[in-house]
Amino acid sequence: MKKDKENIPSINPDFLVPSKKRERIDVHSLFAGIKAGSWQDLSRAITLVESQSKKDKELARQLIHLCLPLSGSSFRIGITGSPGVGKSTFIESLGLALIDSGHKVAVLAIDPSSSLNHGSILGDKTRMDRLAIHEHSFIRPSPAGTSLGGVARTTRESVILCEAAGFDRILIETVGVGQSEVTVHSMVDFFLLMLLPGAGDELQGIKRGVMEMADLIVINKADDERELLAQKSKRMVQNALHILPATAKEWKTPVETISALKQKNVKRVMQLSNQFFDLVRSNNVFGERRKQQAIYWLDEYINFQLKNTFFDNPLIYQKYNEIKEIVRDNQLSPFEAADELFQFFLKSNS
Ligand code: GDP
Repeated sequence: MKKDKENIPSINPDFLVPSKKRERIDVHSLFAGIKAGSWQDLSRAITLVESQSKKDKELARQLIHLCLPLSGSSFRIGITGSPGVGKSTFIESLGLALIDSGHKVAVLAIDPSSSLNHGSILGDKTRMDRLAIHEHSFIRPSPAGTSLGGVARTTRESVILCEAAGFDRILIETVGVGQSEVTVHSMVDFFLLMLLPGAGDELQGIKRGVMEMADLIVINKADDERELLAQKSKRMVQNALHILPATAKEWKTPVETISALKQKNVKRVMQLSNQFFDLVRSNNVFGERRKQQAIYWLDEYINFQLKNTFFDNPLIYQKYNEIKEIVRDNQLSPFEAADELFQFFLKSNS
C-alpha cells in the first residue's frame, strides 16, 4: 500500500479532537481491511484499542478476538536504551535491513514519560523518516496513557493487530526508565539492549537488571574516535555477562559494537536475531516464553483491573484520601487501614 509522509499521524487523531464524531465502526469490515493489509484500517484499529470509551472497548475486544488466530507467527523484538543512545537511528537501519530481506516491519513504542507527565521522550521528535514512508513498514508512536499498565495493554493488543495485518517483525522500543523495560521484556521474543561506548559506570548500577534480560547487547556509536572505547566497553560487558545466567537454553548473549548511523554491523545484528529465532523455535523456548508471558499478562491485567475497579469507586477514593491522613499521623497501621478500606469496598459492592 502506498504511503506518503502527510498521511502519517504523529498522534492519535481522536485524542487531539475528542469531540469529533467518528464514523460507525463495523468490526468485521475493519478486520477484513486489516487482513488485506490496509494501513489505514490498521491505524483505525489501533486507535480503537487505545480508546477509553466503553463502547469502543467492546468493539476492540471483538476485533482482537478475530485477529488473535492470525497472530503469533511473527518475531517480536524489544529494544531499549537510554535517551540519545541511538534507538531510532538503529531501528530505522534495522527496519530497512529487515525489509530488504523480505520482511514487513511494524514499530511500536512504550514511552514511560508519556504516561507519567504527558510529555514524551520517544515520540516528540521526527523519527525514522526513511522507514516511515516505506510501504512495508508501519510506525505507531507511543500511546498517551494514564498508567504504564494501560499503555502496556494497548501495545500488546496493537502487536496482535499488526501481526494480523501481515507484519512479521514487530519492533517495540522503550526507554530505560523504571518499570518499562520489564514491561517490554514481557511482551517480546528477543530483547536487545543498547549501550554507549564508555558506559562502564552504568554496568555497576541500574543496567545490571536489564543486562540479565538482554538476549543481545550492542554498543552503539562505535565509529570515528569512539571505536576503541567501544571495543573496551564490549570486553567489559562480556566480562559482566559471565556471571549472569543464560537468557535461553543453548544461547550465550552476544555483545556487538555497531554504528547505527553508518550502518556498521547492523546486518550482523539482524543475523544474530535470526539465529536466535531459529534456535528458540527449534528448542521450543519460543513457545514456552510466549506461554509464560500470556500468564504474566493475565496476572498483571487482573491486578490492574482490580486496582482500577477499586479506585473507580468514588466513595473508596474519598475514604482512601481520609484514611491516608490517619495513616500518615500514625494513628492507624497501613495494614489495618487497607483492610478497613477493603471491607468498605466489599460492602459497597454487595
Ligand atoms: P534515541 O533517543 O535513543 O532514539 O537516539 P537517536 O536515534 O535519536 O540518536 C541520538 C543522536 O545520536 C542523534 O543525533 C543521532 O544522529 C546520533 N547517533 C545515533 N546513532 C549513532 C551512531 O551510530 N554514531 C554516531 N556517531 N551518532 C549516532
